[in-house]
Amino acid sequence: MKTDFEIVVIGGGPAGTTAARFACIGGAEVLLVERRREFGVPTRCAEGVGETSLAEFLKPDPSLISRRLKGARLISPDGTAVELTVEGSGLILERKIFDRKLAELAGEAGTEIRLNSQVTSIERAGDHRWRTKISQNGTEKKVTSRIIIAADGVESRVGRWAGFKTALSLHNIESGLQYQIYDESVDQNFSELYFGEEVAPGGYLWCFPKGEGVGSVGVGLAADRLKGKTARSFLDDFLHEKFPNARIISMVAGGIPVSVTLKEIVGDGIMLVGDAARQVNPMTGAGILNGMIAGKLAGEVAASAIKQGDTSKERLQEYHKLWHQRVGKIHRAYYIIKEGVIKLSDDSLNRVAHLLSDLPPEKRTIKRVFFTALSRDPRLLLELRHIFGR
Ligand SMILES: Cc1cc2nc3c(=O)[nH]c(=O)nc-3n(C[C@H](O)[C@H](O)[C@H](O)COP(=O)(O)OP(=O)(O)OC[C@H]3O[C@@H](n4cnc5c(N)ncnc54)[C@H](O)[C@@H]3O)c2cc1C
Repeated sequence: MKTDFEIVVIGGGPAGTTAARFACIGGAEVLLVERRREFGVPTRCAEGVGETSLAEFLKPDPSLISRRLKGARLISPDGTAVELTVEGSGLILERKIFDRKLAELAGEAGTEIRLNSQVTSIERAGDHRWRTKISQNGTEKKVTSRIIIAADGVESRVGRWAGFKTALSLHNIESGLQYQIYDESVDQNFSELYFGEEVAPGGYLWCFPKGEGVGSVGVGLAADRLKGKTARSFLDDFLHEKFPNARIISMVAGGIPVSVTLKEIVGDGIMLVGDAARQVNPMTGAGILNGMIAGKLAGEVAASAIKQGDTSKERLQEYHKLWHQRVGKIHRAYYIIKEGVIKLSDDSLNRVAHLLSDLPPEKRTIKRVFFTALSRDPRLLLELRHIFGR
């Protein structure tokens, strides 16, 4: 079995498989290591993405999609629903198939893939090569590489091993819990987002359709606002009230990083991508597409650095720069918006919902929602205007 590669990618989620794919397309020899036996299983995700952004990476084949949304409904604490209709733009994926498809694309580009293989340590020797220990079925294997791309998700240990400061404050990590339920009354055309202190303090509760009476109902809560309650008790209370006859089919839990991107995502011969780099949209908790964008940028830069024979931190910084050019600005804006929105009292949330629901549907845009929500906070509005350049 081959033991020397140009690039080792650790973690086969959307960020890792995309990084591997684009590094191979750029001409590098790549190994992708994933500890699970199958890509995308279990699915710790509500699977919502925007169709337009997805098109950069693959054709959204019907088998990858559970539902096409007509829009989203934002629901304030007093039950006021604000409908945002953006036909054709929201998709609910079938991540089991989607993640596998991304792995297939990486394989097709030439990536060697090892499943059921857990990376247990990394070490950089004097020859500027990484030695990665991989445990598979109780046996230990070692591989060497010039570059490591750490795509090992929210709990990322690889970044920590390499000396990155990956720890997040409780304020910037949401506890996510999701049930998949069967209930005929789940709206199969709209995603619904519920806000308020009683339902989801410091975050929101979602109900996304999955087709044929099935829905994903979950909460993402600011870990520092739980006041002794658990994500599970919030979710159970909601279910009891809204879907008392629901049958719970499955349950998944996971942390969601809702911070700005880590200050450092590149070191000598190493790059962090996706949740490992804290690249999730901090307002929505969506990380699939951001992870894929980062994966593509990192994979391309890594391949080009290998070709040039320079895998130093300075060379790999190009990835950090490109990430900030492409997403960094908006990522920071979403963080500011999140910080503003989680401070709103239930009364303010209701007031915003009333203002928005009085507008004609074509004027209810996401941007207007944010600016209305933050209208009483001139400091935040100023920061946002600065970021958006007006
Ligand atoms: C409840 C919940 C709902 C969500 N809903 C949405 C949503 O609707 N839309 C959206 O865009 N995002 C959503 N997200 C976020 C989204 O799931 C993540 O942002 C996305 O999966 C990140 O991709 P990634 O490739 O960075 O990491 P992951 O998908 O977490 O992949 C990391 C991979 O690394 C592997 N790994 C870890 N350590 C090792 C190791 N030592 N050796 C080998 N392999 C390792 C893991 O097994 C895993 O497969 C949600 C998250 C949660 C928790």
